[in-house]
Amino acid sequence: MLKIVNFPDTILREKMPDFDFENPSQDPKALEKEMIETMFANAGMGLAANQVNQRVRMFVMGHKDMPEAAQAFFNPVVIAATEDVQNLEEACLSFPGIYVDIKRPTAIKARWQNSSGEFQEGEFRGYECKCFLHELDHLEGIVFKDRVSTIKWAMSVKKSKPKNKRK
Ligand SMILES: [Zn+2]
Repeated sequence: MLKIVNFPDTILREKMPDFDFENPSQDPKALEKEMIETMFANAGMGLAANQVNQRVRMFVMGHKDMPEAAQAFFNPVVIAATEDVQNLEEACLSFPGIYVDIKRPTAIKARWQNSSGEFQEGEFRGYECKCFLHELDHLEGIVFKDRVSTIKWAMSVKKSKPKNKRK
């Protein structure tokens, strides 16, 4: 299991370099497996590499009801996004106990490489869409705090619950 880095660790502010499948810095399948385990062990639905101290352009996403469908997205790129937005609540494993509503596109089309290096394309909507964009932000050094006003953030922090009292 990997240790999760909490804000304001500086790696959360770094832009992650592309993963080079021709000359891999580490085993992509082993990293995918370890990050999925870490994500589920912490009740998350997404986890970016820099959140576990790995300097790789990759995140994992999955739902506990369908754990076998969880997967890694290497070198992800958004190729289209809807103009209409949804305002959904987000949480982040690097900010325990904080929940905040964030406006993001309702649906996106994206391209990425799987852990075998194969190019894939897919569409995401609803919670999957906001999760994909939240994790992609991490790889750019952006955190969800940056997506809301200072006042809205301060209110969310005030309402936040200690980690052991969540649910
Ligand atoms: Zn996050």
